[in-house]
Amino acid sequence: MTAVTARKLDGRALSSRVFDEVAQLVAARLQAGKSRPVLATVLVGNNPSSDLYVKSKQKNAKAVGIETRDHRLADTTTTDELCEVVASLNSDDAVSGVLIQQPVPPQIDMLKVIYNLDPVKDVDGFHPVNAGLVSLGMPGAVEPCTPAGVMLLLEDAGIAIAGATAVIVGRSNLVGKPAALLLLKRNATVTVCHTKTRNLRDHTLAADILIAAAGKAELIGRDMVKPGAAVVDVSVNWVDGKQVGDLGPGVEEVAGWLTPNPGGVGPMTRAMLIKNTYEAEVRRRP
Ligand code: NAP
Repeated sequence: MTAVTARKLDGRALSSRVFDEVAQLVAARLQAGKSRPVLATVLVGNNPSSDLYVKSKQKNAKAVGIETRDHRLADTTTTDELCEVVASLNSDDAVSGVLIQQPVPPQIDMLKVIYNLDPVKDVDGFHPVNAGLVSLGMPGAVEPCTPAGVMLLLEDAGIAIAGATAVIVGRSNLVGKPAALLLLKRNATVTVCHTKTRNLRDHTLAADILIAAAGKAELIGRDMVKPGAAVVDVSVNWVDGKQVGDLGPGVEEVAGWLTPNPGGVGPMTRAMLIKNTYEAEVRRRP
């Protein structure tokens, strides 16, 4: 029998606190006679997992008093057709935020679509303007939901970020890169690893904060984790029909803090989307 030593970075519990906070803010806003935030969701095609994700985001939104508008497009939709839908949502004054569920079918140029979205309504934080503001550490940025949720998990647990050695495995625009920038803003010393990194273990072993976002089951073995480190397992891999992250067996006996997977980063991502939608409306109509 082995001992679990890591304390839980409980994304489910923290996300439900975030939802409660946003619900109170929306209620106060409505009581003050101000506008109700509206989240428009756009789903292209019939991918069942994407459909589930959209439904759960809509459910989260409705539960806090945010109105949702559901847009469903055929899987043959072209980039230009999707851009037209985005343009109409940009100009619809009632809409606070627009979520385009990814992945989209391969014929769609998602960069072009995001470029056409009004950055103020970009509640995913993917638009180059928001990425630029995050990169410059400037106020007014819509921070991407997953890395923003990771920061909140670390901060809420009281984990010291300033001065910490933070290592991120993964350098995507969605997770790794913005996570590095948000950690840097909080004064961590940051290393970003990827498939060309030599001796990955040398890097991960030095991490006080280790963020695994490679999408490779069992990539991070227990011998790659510094005792007492805070380990955040972002990845969603499916092994034998079961959701797992990037961590191998036994990491929970070495780490000081650990996200469950599922139940860690996923709920935080949805909570940040809802928070971003509320904030998008406040920015447009204080
Ligand atoms: P991605 O675009 O596939 O990026 C993966 C990154 O990991 C790449 O930078 C890649 O390096 C690096 N990598 C892959 N294998 C590696 C290895 N063996 N050693 C070192 N680095 C390696 O994925 P993503 O969009 O960032 O997502 C990462 C994971 O998080 C996925 O499992 C995704 O499903 C999950 N995710 C979860 C949430 C959530 O809410 N929980 C949200 C978003 C994403 P190269 O750049 O060199 O290829």
